[in-house]
Amino acid sequence: MCFGPFRQLCHWGPFVALFLIFYITGTAVMCDLFYWTPNKDSLLSIVHFVVLSSWIFFILWNYFHAVFYGPGFVPLGWKPENPEDEKSLQYCHVCKGFKAPRSHHCRYCNRCVMKMDHHCPWINTCCGHRNHAHFTYFLWFAPLGCFHATIIISVTIYSEIYKQLYSPRKYRRPNNIPLGVEFGLPQLFMSFVAVGLAIGVTLAVLFLFITQIRSILKNESGIENWIVAKAKHRHSKMESKFVYPYNLGRKRNLLEVFTWQGRPQGDGISWPVVEGCTQYTLTIEQIAQKQLKKERMIEYIVIEDYEGSWFPISKGCCTCLCFPLTDEPRIEIDEEDIIMVSRWKKYWLYGEVQFINDGDESTPRIRGWFPRRCVKQNAGHICKDDVDDTKKKR
Ligand SMILES: [Zn+2]
Ligand SMILES: [Zn+2]
Repeated sequence: MCFGPFRQLCHWGPFVALFLIFYITGTAVMCDLFYWTPNKDSLLSIVHFVVLSSWIFFILWNYFHAVFYGPGFVPLGWKPENPEDEKSLQYCHVCKGFKAPRSHHCRYCNRCVMKMDHHCPWINTCCGHRNHAHFTYFLWFAPLGCFHATIIISVTIYSEIYKQLYSPRKYRRPNNIPLGVEFGLPQLFMSFVAVGLAIGVTLAVLFLFITQIRSILKNESGIENWIVAKAKHRHSKMESKFVYPYNLGRKRNLLEVFTWQGRPQGDGISWPVVEGCTQYTLTIEQIAQKQLKKERMIEYIVIEDYEGSWFPISKGCCTCLCFPLTDEPRIEIDEEDIIMVSRWKKYWLYGEVQFINDGDESTPRIRGWFPRRCVKQNAGHICKDDVDDTKKKR
């Protein structure tokens, strides 16, 4: 069991991330000590060791800050100062408060997250307002460190194999300094694995870093990117043009996240916006999009119980094999439940269970996937999308 702040690290994500960091950097340090042992006669060997160590320091520093700072959560039960503004905001049924502009509810953190970008399993929390800078620094230093490690380990492997093959008798350790480290077969195997992992991490994390920098330059989180795309589509049929309120220009966008103090600008609740927009420009757009989505929902009635299993054998092989490729929840449904469906797959549907006291804000929302064969459309509803989607899958 883990207590206090370390609870955040007790999850497979940080375990794997920290294992990779320590394994790759540990192997690189071993190779460095073996081949380029820092010693007073070679300034370069000392500089090299300092550079390698500083990557490790910066990787871990930013990693732990991203984990322990957290993204910043909207206070539970939060509401705007002016009650008039409540109609421009969405309500969170779990946090029992309004969602501040740019915040979204994360089902893993189970809280509304300030300027939520995404939930990152590797840090076991969200990337959001408070830890955005440290998270991005981490994404920068991790590939740099891994790239450096790749070179050190590759040169070591090459030298070892070359020496063992062509001059095994002449083989001497470079500096002849006793370190208690022998480069045998286990070390060679460990180095091969480390090099593979280091190349993989370099490429994958560099890709994430580019994605993050692009999002910071536009001041548009991953979620906002979706909202803006839908807003542009929605407004293309209207006379008014949608203006994204938070893009203040590249320089100001960067300065909003990266500051000398290491803390982002602002309180994570109110945001500077471009001229012609208000604090609620985006939230009003979101509400309009949600309304549109609601209008397209179709009512279904449950005809067969489903216990929420990910692979419900009793519902047929096709239902088990063609499951939705998402980690969104599967919901338990009982006969005669009413469900409003918003997404359709051939064998699965996504919807929200309706309660008698619906509309009461304290009622929790139950949304998720369930097998299509467990429900039937309520008479009177014709869904074009339903038909189209089924056709497409065939
Ligand atoms: Zn919430
Ligand atoms: Zn989260």
